[in-house]
Amino acid sequence: MDAVNPATGAVIESYEEADDAEVEAALAASQSAFEEWRDVPLREREELIANAADVLRENAERYARLMTDEMGKPVEQARGEVEKCAWACEYYAEHASQHLADEPRASPAGTEVYTSYEPLGPVLAVMPWNYPFWQVFRFAAPYLTAGNTGILKHASNVPGCALAIEEVFEKAGFPEGVFQSLLVSSSKVDGIIADDRVRAATLTGSEPAGRAVAETAGRELKKTVLELGGSDPVVVLDDADVAQAAETGAWARCQNTGQSCIAGKRFVVHDAVYDDFLDAFLDEIDAYTVGDPRDDQTDIGPMARRDLLEDLHEQVVRSAQAGADVVRGGEPLDREGEYYPPTVLTDVPRDAPVAAEETFGPVAAVLRVDSEEEAVEVANDTDLGLGASVWTEDRARGQRVAHRIDAGCTYVNELVKSDPRVPFGGVKDSGYGRELASDGIREFVNRKTIWVN
Ligand code: NDP
Repeated sequence: MDAVNPATGAVIESYEEADDAEVEAALAASQSAFEEWRDVPLREREELIANAADVLRENAERYARLMTDEMGKPVEQARGEVEKCAWACEYYAEHASQHLADEPRASPAGTEVYTSYEPLGPVLAVMPWNYPFWQVFRFAAPYLTAGNTGILKHASNVPGCALAIEEVFEKAGFPEGVFQSLLVSSSKVDGIIADDRVRAATLTGSEPAGRAVAETAGRELKKTVLELGGSDPVVVLDDADVAQAAETGAWARCQNTGQSCIAGKRFVVHDAVYDDFLDAFLDEIDAYTVGDPRDDQTDIGPMARRDLLEDLHEQVVRSAQAGADVVRGGEPLDREGEYYPPTVLTDVPRDAPVAAEETFGPVAAVLRVDSEEEAVEVANDTDLGLGASVWTEDRARGQRVAHRIDAGCTYVNELVKSDPRVPFGGVKDSGYGRELASDGIREFVNRKTIWVN
């Protein structure tokens, strides 16, 4: 398994894939750790996850630079990612007891009936490279604190991050086997899910990967949570604060070099403000610094891999052939590394790839509509349903439109973002289940009824 720096093409380090004996050892360790971990008082598990926050902060610069080297994230954003992981750990350190407290139920006089939230066992997590720390902590902080053990199968292009995350839990004092990183390719995932010791699986990544995991888990009757990406609309209505919508919208599209499931991808703009919005949006895009991700000033770095850049470029080319106007970018940059410039397409036909498919890079599709009704229709014209944002000066109108959008979340006058305090997940082909908040920590637990006469 080679970790390749996408800014230079250089191999950073090569790692040995785990063989069958190592996979077996990890499963056995996860199971035996679970037998003890489940009985560790919740208060102690909370203290350990709080320690993980400290370890993250103490090593923030090293972890940030590791992400930057392995997948090209601009280093300032990588620092922010480490801090966000620490925040999620702290959130569960402070709130797990409340979210997992026994819940009394209505019952006949003289009985005591309640729901107890108990861990399930070893959980397999298949995770992507785009937020190589955050995606992992989003599952690990709640699920481990709830008393499960975790086995991470991280994306093959971020093996160093996978091992560094294992180190976080070790340094934080978690017992051996509670969290393990297994360096395996995706071909090993089926067998791991099918193993009796694994009780549940979670995947963040592409739709085909999600379908594969869900298929195996379904056959094996194991619960899954899937987070499979999005094609989030940014709906700019005729009474929007156009400057704010353009500033936030441009960043929604370009942060993490556009490689985010909740990036704003389709800009659905009312005719009355279309020209003003487009001018302001292009000004924002033009102001970004594209360059070396190790530089603090860089806004947009290289894409994580050559194949991802090629797929993105092909979507742009096919969209131009379908009639869209490429008004910014549109060609890979002529320099070393996997650089694709911020790219904006206007007059995009609704069936062009940049509108109809997920674009995982800094490519914005701008679509013109002439009513609120049409804006909702275009926003919902996708098989995906992860997030959305709506821009209007009228908060009641914003909420009305928000309720009509088929998505797991809709933000009014705000960037779509994941936040430990609120549930996160999608509908339609964006997946199912919820991460974060009380909803996330209760996904992989046995909601056990206790009835006492
Ligand atoms: P993948 O979905 O292929 O990778 C995500 C994770 O799933 C990796 O750990 C990968 O392992 C694993 N995986 C892949 N195929 C299978 C399978 N059949 N069974 C079990 N596990 C599997 O994403 P890519 O890196 O190829 O990116 C392709 C596209 O996916 C992007 O362009 C984007 O559209 C979407 N994506 C969405 C993300 C999100 O946040 N929702 C994150 C990343 C990608 P391995 O690396 O070893 O193949």
